[in-house]
Amino acid sequence: MIKANNPDLKSWIEVDKNSDFPIQNLPFGIFVREGKLPRACVAIGDCVVDLAEFALAGYLRDLNVNLQIFENSFLNPVIGMGKEKCRLLRQLVSDILHAENPELRDRQDMRKKIIHKMSDVKMLIPVRIGDYTDFYSSIDHATNVGKMFRDPANALLPNWKHLPVAYHGRSSSICVSGHSFHRPKGQTKPADADLPIFGPCKLLDFELEMAFIIGKQTQLGESVSTAVADDYIFGLTLFNDWSARDIQTWEYVPLGPFLAKNFASTISPWIVTLDALEPFRTAGYTQEPKVLPYLEYKGEKNIDIHLEVSIQPEKSEENIVSKSNYKFMYWTMEQQLAHHTSNGCNINIGDLMASGTISGPTPGSFGSMLELSWKGTKPIQLKDGTDRKFINDNDTVIMRGYCEKEGVRIGFGEASGKVLPAL
Ligand code: CA
Repeated sequence: MIKANNPDLKSWIEVDKNSDFPIQNLPFGIFVREGKLPRACVAIGDCVVDLAEFALAGYLRDLNVNLQIFENSFLNPVIGMGKEKCRLLRQLVSDILHAENPELRDRQDMRKKIIHKMSDVKMLIPVRIGDYTDFYSSIDHATNVGKMFRDPANALLPNWKHLPVAYHGRSSSICVSGHSFHRPKGQTKPADADLPIFGPCKLLDFELEMAFIIGKQTQLGESVSTAVADDYIFGLTLFNDWSARDIQTWEYVPLGPFLAKNFASTISPWIVTLDALEPFRTAGYTQEPKVLPYLEYKGEKNIDIHLEVSIQPEKSEENIVSKSNYKFMYWTMEQQLAHHTSNGCNINIGDLMASGTISGPTPGSFGSMLELSWKGTKPIQLKDGTDRKFINDNDTVIMRGYCEKEGVRIGFGEASGKVLPAL
C-alpha cells in the first residue's frame, strides 16, 4: 500500500468527515492570494497548504529539486518531477500534517505563512493544458445517443467496441470552476427550415466527464502499452464538456464536433493523484467482442467514483439531476492512452484526456440533459417549479465527485460553470 493512503492516518488540521480532502487525499492545485503570485498547493480539509512556503521552511529537502517549481502559475513543473518524486512529495506533506508530528503543528508563526483557509484564496486553472482529447467511452451514453439519432436496433456504430472513439478538442477555452461564459451563437438548421440560420444556441447541454492529466511525455513515434499507462497519468479532475446540441447536429457530419464544443469547458481546480485513487480501483466491463492485443489489459482498472450533477437556477436552490459513476466506463484510461499513442502520436505533461459523457444504465444516472430529458421529450422538474429540457441562461451547473471506502472519502471538489445570456 502507498503509505500516504493509510486509512488510519489523522491530521492535526481538523477535517470534517464529509470533506473531500482528508489527509489521505492531498490533491494538487494552484492558488493565489491578493497581491501575491500564484503558487502550487495541496488541499486538506477547508485549507490549502502553500507548497512554496512549505518548501522554504525546509520540509521538502528530501525531494532535492529546485524549489522554484512551486512558485509557478501551473503545476506542470511539479508534475514534471516524475511519478517517484510526486509520490515522495505527497508523502512528505502527509508526514508533516500527521497528527503526532509537532514540526509544523506547534509552530504558529510558520503555520500562518504556510496554511490558508480556502475561503481566503482564489483557485486558478491547475495545469497549462497543451492538447485536449475527448473520448466517447461510456457504453450507456453511446447507446442512448445512437438510439436517439440513429437506429435503436443498432445503436452502437461498428467500430465502437473495437476502439475507444475520440476527437481532438480545444484547450484554449478550458476554464476553472467558478467561471461564467456567454451562451454560444452558431449556425443551426431548424427541422422545419430549408436553410440554416445563425443565432444563440437553443439546446445548451452539459456533459458529465472525468479527465486525466498526462504526467510523463513520450517522443514522437513511441507508443504506451496498457501495462505501463499508469506511469504516464498524473491524476484526475472533474470535467464538464459543455455542448451546443443544435449546433452539433448540423455541423458534425462528416468530421465530428467543432464549434458545438469549443466555446467552453469546465474543470475542477484540484488534481487528485492516481496514487490517492488506487484503493478505489474496481473491475471493468467484460469486453465482448475481444479487443485487439494492444488494447488488452490486466487487473482492475476502472475506478469507483460517485459523480453527480446539479443545476442551480439564478435565484433558487440546487437540484441534483444526475447521479452516475466513473466505473460505468467501458474503455479504461489505460486503453484510451494505449490507443491514443498506438500510431506514435506523442503526448506531453499537462495534456488533458477527457472520458466522454459518463452515463450509467438507469435514467437517473445519465450524464447529459440530452439523455436525461430524452431529447427534450421528458422535461426535468426543478424545486422552484420550473422545468428544464436543456440549460437556461443564468443557470449554474455544478459537478461533484468522490470515492468512499473504509471511512475515507477522496473527493474532487467542484466543477461549476454559469451560463450568461448570449452576447
Ligand atoms: Ca464530450
